[in-house]
Amino acid sequence: MIAAQINRLTEQFPKEVTLVAVSKTKPISALEEAYNAGHRDFGENKVQELCQKAEAMSSEIRWHMIGHLQRNKVKYIAPFVHLIHGVDSERLLVEVNKQGAKNNRIIDVLIQIHIAEESSKFGFSYAEAVTLFSNENPYPNVRVIGLMGMATFTNDKEQVKREFDTLSAFYSSWKTKKSLSVLSMGMSNDYAIAISSGSNMVRIGSLIFGSRN
Ligand SMILES: *Cc1c(COP(=O)(O)O)cnc(C)c1O
Repeated sequence: MIAAQINRLTEQFPKEVTLVAVSKTKPISALEEAYNAGHRDFGENKVQELCQKAEAMSSEIRWHMIGHLQRNKVKYIAPFVHLIHGVDSERLLVEVNKQGAKNNRIIDVLIQIHIAEESSKFGFSYAEAVTLFSNENPYPNVRVIGLMGMATFTNDKEQVKREFDTLSAFYSSWKTKKSLSVLSMGMSNDYAIAISSGSNMVRIGSLIFGSRN
């Protein structure tokens, strides 16, 4: 089932699109099923759960931290995390840089932009992102490789499309200047819209592993 779902999804994606299988709350056995079918990119939104799974599973897996990340927890994932999607403040960037230096690595991150109407979702405003990008990167142990955004949770597809299109245009406007290569947008219920807007990384959970409790 899990492997079949991954294949069904990846077959319909343009080849530049990376599928991050969002395995939060799911048991290792479910992740193993995806891994044994050849899948390597997994997304988790809780540091403790991510670390436990990483320790139990193959070191070939690329672990994506996709949710809101507290600064005091960066140290646990800094040695091995593949990509941090939800960098939503300058203070978090400072901490990722510090932990990157401690681990002698340059940590890849995405800047999360607040694109939804809901006030609860984290992220930089477009204006704040412009300020960040307008300066030289002051964080030698952080590499900003792209942007991430979550659309408003609504059935209004036009609105979702507008939010993704706006982020995609912003990404395009900075892509060359800042050497960006990843635009992470799209989940189970809106990945098709996201890809049509130019996403090249989708984070899909329930459609692969089944709904969460
Ligand atoms: C849970 C989660 C997803 C996946 O959601 P699904 O609707 O299950 O596909 C994607 N991105 C983030 C940031 C998440 O927290």
